[in-house]
Amino acid sequence: MNQAATKDFPFKSPNHYTTNSMLDLQTPVQFVKGVGPRRAHDLAGKNIHTVEDLLYTLPYRYEDRTQLIRIKDLQPGHKTSILVEILTAGLIITSKSRRKIFNLVARDESGIVHCKWFHSEYLAHRKIFRKGQKVIFHGKFEADPYAIDNLQSINPEFEIFDYPIPSNDSIQMGRIVPVYEAIKSCGPRLLRRMIYTVLGELSQILETLPPDVIARHKLMDRRRALQEAHFPSSDTSLEALGNRSTRAIQRLIFEELFLLEVGILWKRHRIRKAPGIAFRTNSTILKAVKKLLPFHPTTAQKRVLKQMADDMHQSTPMNRLLQGDVGCGKTVVALEASAIAIENGYQVAFMAPTEILAEQHYFYAKSLYGKTSYRVGLLKSGIRQSDRTQLLELLSEGKIQILIGTHALLEADVCFQKLGLVVIDEQHRFGVIQRFNLMKKGTHPHTLVMTATPIPRTLSMTLYGDLDISIIDEMPPNRTTVTTHILEELERPQVYRFIANQIKLGRQAYVLCPLLEESEKLDLRAARKTFAHLARDVFPEFQIELLHGRLKSQEKNRIMQHFTGGQTNILVSTTVVEVGVDVANATVILIEHAERFGLAQLHQLRGRVGRGQKQSYCLLMRGKKKLSDEATERLTCLQETTDGFAIAEKDLQIRGSGEFFGTRQSGLPTLRVANLFSDQQILDRARREATHFVDNPTSQQVLTDLFSQLNSTWKIRYGLVGVG
Ligand code: ADP
Ligand code: MG
Repeated sequence: MNQAATKDFPFKSPNHYTTNSMLDLQTPVQFVKGVGPRRAHDLAGKNIHTVEDLLYTLPYRYEDRTQLIRIKDLQPGHKTSILVEILTAGLIITSKSRRKIFNLVARDESGIVHCKWFHSEYLAHRKIFRKGQKVIFHGKFEADPYAIDNLQSINPEFEIFDYPIPSNDSIQMGRIVPVYEAIKSCGPRLLRRMIYTVLGELSQILETLPPDVIARHKLMDRRRALQEAHFPSSDTSLEALGNRSTRAIQRLIFEELFLLEVGILWKRHRIRKAPGIAFRTNSTILKAVKKLLPFHPTTAQKRVLKQMADDMHQSTPMNRLLQGDVGCGKTVVALEASAIAIENGYQVAFMAPTEILAEQHYFYAKSLYGKTSYRVGLLKSGIRQSDRTQLLELLSEGKIQILIGTHALLEADVCFQKLGLVVIDEQHRFGVIQRFNLMKKGTHPHTLVMTATPIPRTLSMTLYGDLDISIIDEMPPNRTTVTTHILEELERPQVYRFIANQIKLGRQAYVLCPLLEESEKLDLRAARKTFAHLARDVFPEFQIELLHGRLKSQEKNRIMQHFTGGQTNILVSTTVVEVGVDVANATVILIEHAERFGLAQLHQLRGRVGRGQKQSYCLLMRGKKKLSDEATERLTCLQETTDGFAIAEKDLQIRGSGEFFGTRQSGLPTLRVANLFSDQQILDRARREATHFVDNPTSQQVLTDLFSQLNSTWKIRYGLVGVG
């Protein structure tokens, strides 16, 4: 970093921290007083490696211990904390219901309380409580319905003090204290002390946000924000702490989102600068492309094709995400874009997440390109060595124009002569790295990634910030919407009759099971057993086949071909048919134990039907057990709407952003403080500031340095930012 840049650079990369004092933000936690190797190991399990990581581990709640209430002043029904001494503790068995309850009696100088825990025999087995211990209980105290004079609390939280509490213990007592999630050997009390120590001993905590941003948003400075987020001053509103709206916490949320956005924008900025291949998109070429379609494209498809043609005409590579509900016609548009590349003399790599899908795309491409001279190749992992060698030879000689396949495309010996376009279907199934690895098989090829998992707009900016986004928000004409019903076991005979009637009308059906094999413990309908039962007892007159992930790929393909070709009436399956499979004649999907599936997944599964003009049905068979509120909410949502975006919003709301995609591979960053869903307003502000910052950098060097800092410290958490 040059001198001038250092002056106005508000950030410092890790190696710039001077170690005059014992601790700085990059010090490994192991060297914090009271930690040591074993605890450091436990903390590492939660991705807490450095002092900085520790400081960004915020409490999940706060407890007001400024003035501990005495038992005689307890107000029934209010959550409070009391400091008491244990008199007795142990398991009791109720005379009526013979339930085991762990019962504890404790006192202070003003009275006695009872605490009870159900289903908590470990408290007895592990001898957690002993007579004479001082304990802080936190919970609601109320009159015991059976002994009205007794105040009791059910399942209160507690903290045991094995040592006499010093009257001046200002960390654990006499203040609003932070309560942390225990991390194995590090209990909440230890974490409290560790963080307190660290905050006191840190020499400097450098500001991460530019001064003008701090001023514009009246943000608290970083050090004070960390201090207050862990140990709030006593006049802080507990309510504000509870809903994370204190200035300190808001500042930390803003900081995290700002840095995330800067990283994303910067990466996008860099991609934009790379040289690309400017394809010709003149009318001759576009005419040739339009001739391919056996139907009229929808307005949305036309718009998207134009966006892509414009992108590919530029001398910087296209980086586009095509989003659209299942069955809206993304594949066709992708094959049109492929034709543009091919007409320009370039090759196309088309990657799909499963062999079934790759195969389907292959046949679709062959029929679409039927009148052209394009040669389409299919690469799967199961293919014969000699066939593979021949295929790859043709590819490297440029004699195959479009190669469709699974992740087998990523293998080292797959060489294109002139790769001009990379298409990735169901991109959320692949990691960002895989996308980049495929791109590396060419020289800055254009890239199109597609997804049918609708992502709420607010999130897609963050998730796919390095991509331009196109949306197909229109279904091909004459599609009927799928009718969805929630059904119970009692209605099964009618369900079977209904399916039989559909088949007699010449239609086909899917039966989806959550598992392949029977599982006694879970008592779930498994695909294998369901298949046997349906084939033998219910539909002996129909052709039924069983599809699951453990079959050899040849077998899978054979089964899919039978179903696509209409020879099979009913396909019993596990979720291998989840994505993209396209059989227009299938009009019913029966989903067993629908409550076991996530909302987005159910929506995907439902998308297997309603792909033609015939009225289609999604039958959600619920298990016998009582449904959880969440499961009820999911099924009802699905019954009420077929709008993928509305469903995605709902899914996000039910599950929270952390679990939205499940894996880090999806590109969803793991945030420490912020929540992409509940902090959307701050996200908007942070993004605006980040855009301004990246567009008007004080100097190029400032940006480069910030990016390298983001890259080194956040690579793991923000896989999205780290690559490229
Ligand atoms: P997606 O990949 O978005 O799930 P597909 O591209 O597989 O959707 O399209 C689903 C089906 O709809 C295919 O059979 C395709 O041929 C058909 N289709 C696509 N676009 C149109 C259109 N504009 N008019 C009629 N049929 C269409
Ligand atoms: Mg598709």
